[in-house]
Amino acid sequence: MIIDCHGHYTTAPKALENWRSQQIAGLKDPALKPRAADLKISDDELRESIEGNQLRLMKERGSDLTIFSPRASFMAHHIGDFETSSTWAAICNELCFRVSELFPDHFIGAAMLPQSPGVDPRSCIPELERCVREYGFVAINLNPDPSGGHWTSPPLSDRHWYPLYEKMVEHDIPAMVHVSTSCNACFHTTGAHYLNADTTAFMQCLTSDLFADFPTLRFVIPHGGGAVPYHWGRFRGLAQEMKKPVLKDHLLNNIFFDTCVYHQPGIDLLARVIPVDNILFASEMIGAVRGIDPETGFFYDDTRRYIEATSMLDAEARHKVFEGNARRVYPRLDRALIAKGL
Ligand SMILES: [Zn+2]
Repeated sequence: MIIDCHGHYTTAPKALENWRSQQIAGLKDPALKPRAADLKISDDELRESIEGNQLRLMKERGSDLTIFSPRASFMAHHIGDFETSSTWAAICNELCFRVSELFPDHFIGAAMLPQSPGVDPRSCIPELERCVREYGFVAINLNPDPSGGHWTSPPLSDRHWYPLYEKMVEHDIPAMVHVSTSCNACFHTTGAHYLNADTTAFMQCLTSDLFADFPTLRFVIPHGGGAVPYHWGRFRGLAQEMKKPVLKDHLLNNIFFDTCVYHQPGIDLLARVIPVDNILFASEMIGAVRGIDPETGFFYDDTRRYIEATSMLDAEARHKVFEGNARRVYPRLDRALIAKGL
């Protein structure tokens, strides 16, 4: 089977966005503040939003199951306070759970956390627990920069984050390190902030001994790892100068890269530089880049084509990228599949 480890609910019914606008309006005028119960979205509306979009494209492109989380750019953890994020995360996670219930063979959830700048990440644990225990989610998205482009939180290697890591280890769930929208005009959200954050997260891990403290902690760095694979020599050289172990031992038992790289040469490079055991299939469909590449005639985010076409992966390696690695990095997903006889 083909598992796409990176999909967001970017096509949720308009009522969700309207509710969020109302919530933001309520920050200025509390009389406008909506209750969570004011949001009404029927199962039929959810079905329609998925069947004509993500599920249609999954069938056309031949992927089977998507690890599905709330829309990343809408997490916008910088808006309001913890209570704002808490209500918003609960609503968004519940919608992803309902999608996973409506299409259990095709979607399984990953949680957005109710992060808020300056708030102890411990505050996210109840929502994390709820999503794992009640919703059967298999991962979380962890935003290393809840300020939205101003980087006011400590690095991921800081003890600030350790309570979350302890929970991740306890539940055996990985985190996709995923920022949200940029509210810093210097950084375009999907073109700069996302890729900057991917690179930054990797370097924060490299300079630290985080995985000595948490040998089983796992991070998936999306968007092909930002600049990491392209500059692997730089990172190896920096690690060497810092007297760190070689990167394979220092980081690659814990860090994985997805394949959200939207052209063949990028995937060829990823597969050549990064060991195959550390590459997970993903498309982030329907996401940041929705057009058709005039050079190929295919959608940029139809990433399965690049995996199939690269000469860097043989059949066994492709199986790891499409399925085997995801089952290893997301053990709760593996258990859910085994329970279905898959
Ligand atoms: Zn994403």
